[in-house]
Amino acid sequence: MEVFTEGALYRNTIENLESAAKLISLNRNVMERLRYPRRAIVVSIPVRMDDNKVRIFPGYRVQHNQTLGPFKGGLRYHPHVNLSEVGALAVLMTFKNSLMGLPLGGAKGGVKVDPSSLSKTELEHLTRRFTTELGPFIGPDKDIPAPDVGTDSQIMAWMLDTYSMESGFSQTGVVTGKPVEIGGSRGRESATGLGVVYVADRALQVLGKNLNESSFAIQGFGKVGMHAAIEAYALGAKVEAVSDISGCLYKESGINIANLVRYVQENKVIQGFPEAEVISPEELLTLDVDVLAPCALDGVLNENNADQVRAKVIVEGANGPTNVAANQILHKKGCMVVPDILANGGGVVVSYFEWVQDIVWLFWTEEEVRSKLREIMFRAFDQVWEFSQKNNQDMRTAAMATSLLRLEKAMKLRGQAW
Ligand code: NAD
Repeated sequence: MEVFTEGALYRNTIENLESAAKLISLNRNVMERLRYPRRAIVVSIPVRMDDNKVRIFPGYRVQHNQTLGPFKGGLRYHPHVNLSEVGALAVLMTFKNSLMGLPLGGAKGGVKVDPSSLSKTELEHLTRRFTTELGPFIGPDKDIPAPDVGTDSQIMAWMLDTYSMESGFSQTGVVTGKPVEIGGSRGRESATGLGVVYVADRALQVLGKNLNESSFAIQGFGKVGMHAAIEAYALGAKVEAVSDISGCLYKESGINIANLVRYVQENKVIQGFPEAEVISPEELLTLDVDVLAPCALDGVLNENNADQVRAKVIVEGANGPTNVAANQILHKKGCMVVPDILANGGGVVVSYFEWVQDIVWLFWTEEEVRSKLREIMFRAFDQVWEFSQKNNQDMRTAAMATSLLRLEKAMKLRGQAW
């Protein structure tokens, strides 16, 4: 199993799992089972490129655990994709799906490729052939991929089409994150950002504050950060700062997010927006706000800046923005860090809604999606908060432990642990 443990992310993930397991005296056999994925599929994908030469790309799908239901997790197209990293992300999906209370197991996949270096035709050929290779292992009741870094709704549409052609009839439930026109769910695009704001709302409530009297700083203005900003603004919060790859904006009285979104639609980036002043990207992380939402990169909060953070709550929209040292420093300071597996779980929750809608062929309004998402995010937050209070643990440990307890129970019931 060195093929998994050779990567630092996999080892860190298992270390986090071990410390939560110790805290709840997790059944030893459950721990041993969760340590490694159930199955890993490695394929070579031949693609005839536009210059007529054939290139081979490595592709992976790691299926970690399916105790709670079919495997579920994204597909990533990125030059750094490797089996160990995909394995670690699959483990995290098992815990995220369990924590959110979904009837789904955990998986992740990817292709080692820089998608921006391919033409649209090459990208389509790559995706269709990858789908064919994964064919026997995926399906609406087996394993349901979704978009992740470097993949999008168009790629999901090609996957759905290829899988359906090969099985002889239309199978819209094989992937989520599809365009609405072919079985996608309303509200999927904004789901992760909405989830970030819903858990922030709940965190503020337990701290005795109202969302509409609170201030936010949001790092990242992409799929997660922009929708988090839109929702926070719509609910009456003051979004004092936002950043993206082009720079960082600040306005003490609150940025008009509706105007900023219009600006970004025209200009692609936030740089040059006239209604706010420019500050350095580092300053955003240490502003005196109620909520800091890192929604861009991993490792941005670390031992070098954690003690300068003044936010009362950190809501991790991105995966892994706070390193282990920073987590400890922030917890000691009394700052609540709502961890990624809880804070950005809104995406997979609405993916689950999409899968359900495809199975029953009955589609919900955006309002229905939002209210069901809110209910699930609140419930997951409350469970984690309760565990953390009862056991005097930080929210990250509490989230992992809450998720593990549900899995352990299910594994015992199924006779997978003795
Ligand atoms: P995205 O590519 O849509 O957006 C990323 C944003 O971060 C962009 O605005 C980019 O300009 C900005 N950015 C890049 N470098 C930056 C820097 N140095 N400083 C400030 N901003 C910078 O990606 P996304 O889908 O929004 O994902 C963001 C994070 O959220 C990732 O960690 C991803 O794994 C995680 N996540 C995303 C989803 C989802 O549904 N999209 C779900 C769960 C987790």
